[in-house]
Amino acid sequence: MMHWRDVEPWQPESFLDLPTIGAAGYTHGFPQYPQERPARLGVIGDPVSHSLSPAMQVAALSASGTEGEYLAIQVPARELRQALEHLRGLGFLGLNVTLPLKQDELLLEIGDGTVRAVGAANTVKMDAGNMRSTNTDAAGFYEPIRDLAPGRALLLGAGGAARAVAFVLAQSGWEARIWNRTEAGAREIAEQFGGTATNEPNPADCSLVINATSLGLREHEMPPLLWEHLEPESTVYDLVYREGATDFLQAAAKRGARTIDGREMLVAQGAASFAWWLGAEPSLTAMREAVGL
Ligand code: NAP
Repeated sequence: MMHWRDVEPWQPESFLDLPTIGAAGYTHGFPQYPQERPARLGVIGDPVSHSLSPAMQVAALSASGTEGEYLAIQVPARELRQALEHLRGLGFLGLNVTLPLKQDELLLEIGDGTVRAVGAANTVKMDAGNMRSTNTDAAGFYEPIRDLAPGRALLLGAGGAARAVAFVLAQSGWEARIWNRTEAGAREIAEQFGGTATNEPNPADCSLVINATSLGLREHEMPPLLWEHLEPESTVYDLVYREGATDFLQAAAKRGARTIDGREMLVAQGAASFAWWLGAEPSLTAMREAVGL
């Protein structure tokens, strides 16, 4: 991980060692991104060293034969404005944004309709005269559930990711029941996006259960759930991901539920960011492989 002040001007010798276009499963034709400048990309946040995005996006660039790079860049919240200007000056095309910057006022000001509706941004696109933000977490979350018939969903958590989830659930016809450790957070989400706040994590009558808390990165850690009420045919979706299934998904699978790994969302939001920056669909095969799916 490097601090934003340490990012250097583009070095021709740091070009990716490009494979033949199509070699890694790139099936959607050539990128439309005009290649007069390299695709300088990255993820900003603090910390960012744990992010799987660099491996995934470098795989996408490489598979599409696009000259570029994707760096993990440390940007403390108070330095966001300066950092964005600096990176734009160095010719950066796009950035992903992670904690603690997603809800920064600056990113909301330059946001599109989804950013304004969700109240958070995770992607920035920039050129010499312009800087815009969008939220691909929402589309990324939706991708793995698009074929499920909407019903009742239990949403655990009320942070930035839960806001994108609540927005999507409301937009796609789901009725949300929202539980959060701090109940006021659940009530706020319910008021803004619709649904009901609840003081117990009870999945009874829910065909979808979503973990959008930050619990589960460590082994033997998972959000609370009244497992005895889990519906037998339900789907359990964990936004938290790590190598292998989280304890939450393991517990759900043991009870016969269908599970959705957070890396599915990671790939879908990353693919949507890539398409927005470059105007071309990335290789999902390469991206999935890069995150171990
Ligand atoms: P956040 O804004 O910090 O929110 C954290 C949430 O977790 C809050 O609801 C918080 O409850 C809850 N929480 C934290 N510690 C807890 C504990 N000990 N017991 C119970 N609840 C606890 O984080 P975020 O941005 O929403 O992200 C949440 C998770 O989603 C992260 O792990 C992130 O990596 C993951 N995520 C995954 C993807 C993906 O592509 N798969 C995308 C975005 C985010 P309080 O309100 O009570 O503090």
